[in-house]
Amino acid sequence: LQVTGDSIRRRFLQFYASRGHKVLPSASLVPEDPTVLLTIAGMLQFKPIFLGKVPRLVPCAATAQRCIRTNDVENVGRTARHHTFFEMLGNFSFGDYFKKEAIKWAWELTTIEFGLPANRLWISIYEEDDEAFAIWHDEVGVPVERIKRMGEDDNFWTSGITGPCGPCSEIYYDFQPEKGHSDIDLGDDTRFMEFYNLVFMQYNKKDDGSLEPLKQKNIDTGLGLERMARILQKVPNNYETDLIYPIIQTASELAHVTYETADAQSKTSLKIIGDHMRAIVYLISDGVVPSNIGRGYIVRRLVRRVVRTGRLLGIKGDGKGNTDGAFTPHIAEKVIALSSHIDEDVKGRTGRILEELKREELRFVQTLERGEKLLEEMLSDALASAKEDGRFPCLAGKDAFLLYDTYGFPVEITTEVAQERGVVVDMKGFDIEMDNQRRQSQAAHNAVKLEVGEGADIMENISDTEFLGYDMLSAKAIVES
Ligand code: ATP
Ligand code: MG
Ligand code: MG
Ligand code: MG
Repeated sequence: LQVTGDSIRRRFLQFYASRGHKVLPSASLVPEDPTVLLTIAGMLQFKPIFLGKVPRLVPCAATAQRCIRTNDVENVGRTARHHTFFEMLGNFSFGDYFKKEAIKWAWELTTIEFGLPANRLWISIYEEDDEAFAIWHDEVGVPVERIKRMGEDDNFWTSGITGPCGPCSEIYYDFQPEKGHSDIDLGDDTRFMEFYNLVFMQYNKKDDGSLEPLKQKNIDTGLGLERMARILQKVPNNYETDLIYPIIQTASELAHVTYETADAQSKTSLKIIGDHMRAIVYLISDGVVPSNIGRGYIVRRLVRRVVRTGRLLGIKGDGKGNTDGAFTPHIAEKVIALSSHIDEDVKGRTGRILEELKREELRFVQTLERGEKLLEEMLSDALASAKEDGRFPCLAGKDAFLLYDTYGFPVEITTEVAQERGVVVDMKGFDIEMDNQRRQSQAAHNAVKLEVGEGADIMENISDTEFLGYDMLSAKAIVES
């Protein structure tokens, strides 16, 4: 009997409800917090409480929070465990319980409620957190060789440059226990997978970098639903769980390929589509419209990747015989059909989501076709002249930039296509062109300012590379990917 993703979510929430937690709904992917572009973790909606800026309404809570992490976009399909969209199951204490209860409950949930064998579990703690070690070792009974002390980079959690922070402790699942206890590297993801992170929020990091003890100590946790589903459903990766696999099946039907027998590249392509389509549907549902700035640009990039990936797989038009049609709405319908326990509101927004997707896909296909033609010519030229002078075929940065700037052809796609033809792209040259353009638009900005005087906000309207100004790691990652 399969343990469904839905049942894992339900059992997690029930487990904490019966331990005094108030079960609260997921917040939107568009956070109220203006310093963060998208909701990246369950704790975000509680940040003002953690900081003591607003009073808590309940002592502790549990949620299944939908999240987007664009910094993982390159991991999608390459690792078995990363998505751009995923659900983070979390239990939170607002100055109520602390380290001891958090650790004991996490262990009880994992080993009793979900029944994972204790000898498959490994623990990481922050190297200076002797208190956490004592609880895991003396009270829970985890043997010392299964508790790894890690440095600040791995096990000291911060929410940003400033804000709440503290040591954390993670639980890892061991897929290859036969390998024994020596030379352990929890970062080896063929063997281990982190699935539960417990943050012991004790400090507020201030502008000057100093740590100020919080008035109340908090607990913030995150357990990846797709990761727990992978473990309990005994499948080789998150994508083959019942949370995502039906979407992959829909895509593979449109592409006339079979996932099980597909080659590695096609499998990766199907995983990318399965992943990105969830992100796209929930982003649009939460009110993000494809555009050239900020969040809108993230959705646009995701849609473009899906369309391009679908074409690589051989999906033509709507995939059902209409060559002028769009295929992403078909896949979106599958995502929506699976959505009821993730977000009840999505179903009611079906019409808008499908419309938005269709328009965006068709617009991009036009651009893509113009760009593809031009790129084809550029690649033939590069291959021909490489033959002549005996050098490695290379596409000039100038050309890649022209495709990007004039044809809206994303550079990652240029690189992918070039790679398929055995041509490298001069990324240094491309970056130089990008920098030049940025400098020019900055100069234009200054000129406008001088002409119209200080305080004019004209720049906001004239620059369509505005998104580059976001000082957001996550936005940057997807822009560059
Ligand atoms: P990893 O080291 O695997 O990238 P993380 O340390 O970045 O994970 P946390 O920030 O600790 O993850 O988030 C808490 C939990 O959320 C993780 O333990 C994991 O179960 C889940 N999670 C985090 N990022 C992703 C992702 N991109 N896709 C799916 N689940 C994720
Ligand atoms: Mg990560
Ligand atoms: Mg980690
Ligand atoms: Mg972690």
